[in-house]
Order: sequence, then structure tokens, then C-alpha cells
Amino acid sequence: MNYASTNSIVSLNNGVDMPILGLGVYLSKEGREVTQAVHWALEAGYRHIDTASIYDNEKGVGKAVLETSIDRKDLFIVSKVWNSDQGFDSTLKAYDESLKRLNLDYLDLYLVHWPVKGKYIETWKALEKLYNEGRVRAIGVSNFMKHHLDNLIENSKIVPMVNQMEYHPKLTQNDLRNHCKNLKIQYEAWSPLMQGKIFANEILKSMALKYNKSIAQLVIRWNIQNNVVTIPKSVNKTRIIENYQVFDFMLSSTDMELINALDENYRVGPDPDNFDF
Ligand code: NAD
Repeated sequence: MNYASTNSIVSLNNGVDMPILGLGVYLSKEGREVTQAVHWALEAGYRHIDTASIYDNEKGVGKAVLETSIDRKDLFIVSKVWNSDQGFDSTLKAYDESLKRLNLDYLDLYLVHWPVKGKYIETWKALEKLYNEGRVRAIGVSNFMKHHLDNLIENSKIVPMVNQMEYHPKLTQNDLRNHCKNLKIQYEAWSPLMQGKIFANEILKSMALKYNKSIAQLVIRWNIQNNVVTIPKSVNKTRIIENYQVFDFMLSSTDMELINALDENYRVGPDPDNFDF
């Protein structure tokens, strides 16, 4: 079976293809560190890079995109509008500024980073404008709970293509994931490795041994088999390569269920209903 061809791409609700596995660059340092990480990822086979204006490393990501010999059309570059830039005009401006730092003329996906109260509808309308003008290939949200999604959809025209959420074996939010599925919103995981805290789990340790894979590979594969786009972060070449070696094995349905059952509704990041930034 060719696991790569069956699992490496998801089709968004507007028909755009998105690689199911990408490189996250939160906390990757602007400059040489992030540029090098993106180069290593591209060499390893990644085509999808997830940045945000708040990560303060868009320039370094753009440098690697400029330097690589891979065609721009074969890459999937994502950024996000930060909270202090939300609102209609300020979002349009923020998009132009992100493009400028990235040295690109379009993004494959632009996300509303957090559902800032009283602002995210106007922010979304700006994303709709960018999309309708053909300036971005897909638009989506991040950290939107069910009530945020329902309110957004009621007050706008385009259903988001993606919702990027904290997601790992200890936080699966199945109701939200099903809601997204029903709305044809692709679910995407941030902090899939619990920011490095997933590795102490004994069940995952023994299961990884059984598959002769690392815990990181096991968890990334679990994301993929649950049809969740995932963007593990690393700036370490060996780990970047390791995290992409997940298309040559398959978890049994019993083991998928065992990992699904680790859910504790436990967050490593902020709760979208109680954030103050
Ligand atoms: P993560 O779960 O990807 O964990 C990253 C950490 O895990 C790394 O610092 C590294 O120490 C460790 N690691 C990675 N691969 C490993 C391996 N093979 N073996 C051992 N350790 C390994 O955490 P994250 O960076 O928070 O999340 C991933 C990406 O999600 C971010 O980089 C960012 O792009 C995105 N993100 C988005 C939001 C949002 O609000 N939308 C929030 C947080 C993160």
C-alpha cells in the first residue's frame, strides 16, 4: 500500500489541496534558525509551513521560500492575523504587511489567529474580501469554539475552510471536531506534541516500541489517520526528518482507539473562551 499517496493531502471545502503534514515555526528564531529549519523541512519532503505575524519570523520563512528551487505553486504557506490587528481595515493592512515580510504575493491560507470578542466578524469580512479578490487561496480560523463558528457563519458569507485548534491525545474535543466535519471545515492541530510534554506517556511509549517508531511519529500518524492536519514544530534537523517519516506505517484501529481514549480535555495552551491577549 502506498501510504503517502493515500494520506498526504486533504481537499478543503473550496477544492484547494492542503498537505496534511506541515512544519510549525512558533518560537523558531527569526533569521538563520527559522530559515534553516524551513530548508531542512523542504529537503525532507514537507511542502506546508505554518507561521504567524506574532511569531516574528515571517522574514526568515520567506527567505527559505525564495532560496529553494521548489516551485512556489508546490508550497503551502500559512500565516495568521494577530489579535491587535483585528478589524476590517487593519486586517487588510496586516495581510499586506505579512506578504511583504514573507516576500510573497499570495498566501495559501490566512487564518484569524484568535476569536477576539467584538472584532472577529469584521476581521473575517476582510478575509472574505481578500479571498474574493483572489489574493489568498483559502481562508480559515484558529481557536474558534462551536459558538464562535456558529456566530461567524450566521454573520458572514463564506464558511471557513480550516479551524486550527490545540489538538493532541490529551485534548481531542470530539464534539467540536464533529461540528467542523459537518460544516466541511478542515480540523487542524496545533501543539500536536503538547509542546514536548507528550513524551512521558507510558501507553504511547510501549506502543511506539511495538511499531518501531518514535512517540512523535506515532502521535503525528494518529493525527493523520484521524484526518487532522498537523504541524509539529522543531528546529532540529534530525527531528524535522523524523517527524515526516510517518507515511510508511499504519496504526491499527485498536491502537487508534487506545490513543483516542487518552483524552482528558487537558490544555497546554490558552482556552479560547478565556484568553486576554
Ligand atoms: P509542538 O506540539 O509541535 O511541540 C514542539 C516541541 O516538541 C519542540 O519544541 C520540540 O522540543 C519537541 N519535538 C518536536 N519534534 C520532536 C521529536 N521528534 N522528538 C522529540 N521532541 C520533539 O508545539 P507547538 O510549536 O506549540 O505547536 C506546533 C505549531 O502549531 C507551532 O509551531 C505553530 O506553528 C502552531 N501553533 C498555533 C497556535 C494557534 O494559536 N493557532 C498556537 C500554538 C502553536
